[in-house]
Amino acid sequence: MAWHNRTKIVATLGPASDSLKMIAQLVVAGVDVFRINCAHADHDAIGRTIRRVRQVAKKHRRAVGILADLQGPKIRVGRLRNAEPIYLKRSTELVIDVTPGVVGEAAADGSIRIGTGYRFLARDVRVGERILLDDGNLELRVLRVEAPLIHARVVHGGMLYQFKGINLPGSDVSADCLSSKDLRDLRCVLRHEVDFVALSFVRAAEDVHALRRHVKRARSDVQIIAKIERPEAVRNIVSILDAADGLMVARGDMGVEMGPEAVPPVQKRLIDLANRARKPVITATQMLESMVVNPRPTRAEASDVANAIYDGTSAVMLSGETASGRHPVRSVRIMEKIVRTAERDVYGRMGERRRSAAPTAATVTSATVRAAAYAAYEANVRLIAVYTETGTTARMLAGERPPTHILAFTPSQRAMQKLALIWGIVACKIPPGRTSHELTLNGDRILRERALVKRGDRIVQIAGTVRQSGLTNTMTIREM
Ligand code: PEP
Repeated sequence: MAWHNRTKIVATLGPASDSLKMIAQLVVAGVDVFRINCAHADHDAIGRTIRRVRQVAKKHRRAVGILADLQGPKIRVGRLRNAEPIYLKRSTELVIDVTPGVVGEAAADGSIRIGTGYRFLARDVRVGERILLDDGNLELRVLRVEAPLIHARVVHGGMLYQFKGINLPGSDVSADCLSSKDLRDLRCVLRHEVDFVALSFVRAAEDVHALRRHVKRARSDVQIIAKIERPEAVRNIVSILDAADGLMVARGDMGVEMGPEAVPPVQKRLIDLANRARKPVITATQMLESMVVNPRPTRAEASDVANAIYDGTSAVMLSGETASGRHPVRSVRIMEKIVRTAERDVYGRMGERRRSAAPTAATVTSATVRAAAYAAYEANVRLIAVYTETGTTARMLAGERPPTHILAFTPSQRAMQKLALIWGIVACKIPPGRTSHELTLNGDRILRERALVKRGDRIVQIAGTVRQSGLTNTMTIREM
């Protein structure tokens, strides 16, 4: 068994990649977590994809996580007559009609009317505000609101295709964070026992609490990843991070909502806050965008992936590159290589500096975990082995960013899948032991069988007492 990179790779599945064969190739290339975008898949397809991922993971004896991404209140342009795009000419006027069922068209007299499925649009926008279409490629300015009509002028024109996204950067969007479609999708993905659910367009902690209530009602322990893309979310980040199990720096919509210049500082801040909170953070979108078409990334894209590692991200994510691009496997291979090269530099050169600030709550477990990371710095060890039931101790240890790999031994398949997203962790299944000594013997056997240690290697080990679940209170430095 080879050591993996410490920064995890999340890859989005889609028409280019959701076959058994492709999923297997992507796992071998280095994917740790697969993302399923609920906006683009029906429930049968979602179920099929999840079963395929589980099948491949089992065959390759790998802990692979699955993250289901809920669409959230994404506002879209409605249907256009005959699905034909409309050319929006600069400085002309058009009407957005929120009446249900409106089919957009350009009339013979040149007037343009488009529809949207979001019925509160006329309530949410104000005169003078901007409406962005198609990821911000087209821009409108609101002239008058006469519900159900919004009159607007085209500021940046171009071709408008049906179902393109609408962003309202200056407006307070009043739609619920969880639509009825999201709740149906949630029930589907929880039935299939995904490991993470991502919530789009989060604005406040209450959005995460609302999702958590639905998750609890379904008796699931799925982890919630809050996608940060709205300016309100950045303002409320401390309470959102407290409510969620992790963050996604959703740079696509963030760049539209806040401007591309806002993305780099927000990315750095979110990564720093998540690291301090010992929660995973995924840096997402357009990382190797040109590889949707081209076989090689641009130098700027390679730098972008590497810089996310320098920022300290837990995971980097591919979207269109693996979901619908021409080179899904190559994209993962190249991302893996960029990650490996950057890590060699970052953690070789700056290991000492990477040591993270103390966790907010000091406990026996946090003291043991910090002692283990400290020992790994001082005692030239090969790896840290952590015995963990739910994965919590392993997650805390990863937060210390120790200079060695972390081997997390757990009897729980579920814990292994959740650890797939956590920086630095290689999760490994171990039979449940009756005593700490029995667990250690089993762990040592696996380390030797998989050639993770040689005779004479020094390791750090942390564990608790089997009798008292949740308490990690021993740290040992041993020679194998
Ligand atoms: C994003 O906007 O960056 C993102 C990850 O969300 P989605 O791909 O769902 O638009």
